[in-house]
Amino acid sequence: MPYHRILVVGAGLAGLRAAIEAADGDVAVLTRVHPVRSHSVAAQGGVNAPLANVPEGKEDSPERHAFDTVKGADYLADQDAAELMTRLAPERIYEIENWGCPFSRTPEGKIAQRPFGGAGFPRTCYAADRTGHAMLHTLYEQAVKRNVRIYEEWLMLDLIVSGGRCRGVVAMDMVSGRVEAFGAEAVIMATGGAGRIYARSTNSHINTGSAAAFCYRRGVPLKDMEFVQFHPTSLYPNNVLISEAARGEGGYLVNRDGERFMARYAPKAMELGPRDIVARSIQTEIDEGRGFENAYVHLDLRHLGAEKIKERLPAIREIAMYFAGVDPIEKPIPIQPAQHYTMGGLDVDKDGASELPGLFAAGECACVSVHGANRLGGNSLLETVVFGQLAGAAAVRYVGGLEKTGADGPALDAAVAEVESGISGLLGREDGEKMAVIREEMKQVMFEKVGIFRTEGPMREAVEKIRELKERVKRARVEAKGRRYNLELIGALELPAMLDLAEVIALGAVTRTESRGSHFRRDYPQRDDANWLKHTVARWSPDGPRLEYKPVVITKWQPEARKY
Ligand SMILES: Cc1cc2nc3c(=O)[nH]c(=O)nc-3n(C[C@H](O)[C@H](O)[C@H](O)COP(=O)(O)OP(=O)(O)OC[C@H]3O[C@@H](n4cnc5c(N)ncnc54)[C@H](O)[C@@H]3O)c2cc1C
Repeated sequence: MPYHRILVVGAGLAGLRAAIEAADGDVAVLTRVHPVRSHSVAAQGGVNAPLANVPEGKEDSPERHAFDTVKGADYLADQDAAELMTRLAPERIYEIENWGCPFSRTPEGKIAQRPFGGAGFPRTCYAADRTGHAMLHTLYEQAVKRNVRIYEEWLMLDLIVSGGRCRGVVAMDMVSGRVEAFGAEAVIMATGGAGRIYARSTNSHINTGSAAAFCYRRGVPLKDMEFVQFHPTSLYPNNVLISEAARGEGGYLVNRDGERFMARYAPKAMELGPRDIVARSIQTEIDEGRGFENAYVHLDLRHLGAEKIKERLPAIREIAMYFAGVDPIEKPIPIQPAQHYTMGGLDVDKDGASELPGLFAAGECACVSVHGANRLGGNSLLETVVFGQLAGAAAVRYVGGLEKTGADGPALDAAVAEVESGISGLLGREDGEKMAVIREEMKQVMFEKVGIFRTEGPMREAVEKIRELKERVKRARVEAKGRRYNLELIGALELPAMLDLAEVIALGAVTRTESRGSHFRRDYPQRDDANWLKHTVARWSPDGPRLEYKPVVITKWQPEARKY
């Protein structure tokens, strides 16, 4: 039975940065895919840091960056966390640059920065439009160099809690189907977002959120899950992301009448308003009949010219050509909003510590919270490296302070037996409906009823529907009975956990009777600071989530109207 003092689950940017921090001790990383296939690799547009490297950004500072983050978050971010993140940003970016990350450059050789939505200055550092790829390969090299042990193609299926603290995880070797316990003194969750709960998503298929849900089921609360980001520009019809960098470089959003309609919604910021506002504007154009085929609008890059498109947006061009048959040098790109980012997550503090001793979390699966009700583009890659490092350091301190260490044999054996019995039950069931049908119904109901625009009635229906699906999933079956790389079995093991998250999102959303950031209610269109300037905290119970609330940390910025 493997044992490591610190076990990191997830090998994206947050997980690798945490592992690098803990690499002097006994640390290992467990991941369902090879590290450089983690969703971080797909990040395109860039990573924010107030470096003040370009002339238009000379006045930038950590404080301006923190303010933009808090305003973008519709004042739900904890301001002390946002200030910490922006203060540490230059350090983390120069560190990864020194490790070899090939950022794009200004003419004088500094890290180049481009404008992004909701930001007062050009602040987004980038490596063309493949920033996540460049950063992830750099961190992977550093992890290999430090001999970090990596368990690849292992799927976490449960969290082990014993004696009031976290003692490891149960995981399945996807290649053989073998289930094992990994003993640990500290576990750092870095398992990314939960986009695949929704029908239209820019996320990888592995972004199910199941791992965070397994922690939730063991008593770790989830925070602010009702805040789900819809990205304004995903390619129609398959929802591959078209980076905000396309608008940062000057792209226009145009409706069927040839009008740059953002003038109606964000007259100053235009296409570079924050994502929640731009996504709602696009959806309104489509809903009111000014889109194309009732489904999309145009992102026009033609005026940027062939040279700029090829140099700054080569992957965007490739994606548009490959998946939509459109060369953006010659034609506008058809786009529509799609689920993109999970603002909520495991409730942790600035060190990534949850309320369960020994359990830490960082990156998209965590909620510190720096993104509040709406994340600004470029702040997520920053969050992974800043809070990955802090969580790694905190886990090292935590295990250093323990009196007694070593694997908790009985707890580990019991946890494996429980997971095994679930798998045998599933494989032994001969009748029942297919899991895939239930998964599709979940995704559709979430997109249609807990999506960009929300109202009481449909959200109540969504909660009911999810409860019905939770019952049906208990009787559903898998057809493929083997253990080796059985993707149907893997999907079936994750689905109940995904339904738990869906329930938390829908219940949190219907309960919050206001509009804030990404959470927009037609029946409560205003922000309501008197009643709702607070974080939602959901605790698992056998009868569904129990919702509690806790205050937002305000340091310097009192909430004011959010205008762009
Ligand atoms: C297409 C796209 C483009 C983006 N572009 C940008 C951008 O330009 N700028 C920006 O700031 N943000 C961007 N984002 C958001 C940002 O990329 C992510 O939020 C961030 O990379 C998440 O990193 P992470 O380390 O938290 O998780 P991930 O990179 O998603 O890694 C998750 C890891 O967890 C592992 N894992 C998950 N579940 C399990 C399990 N059950 N068992 C074992 N392992 C598991 C996976 O194997 C993986 O290694 C983009 C997101 C998308 C989808």
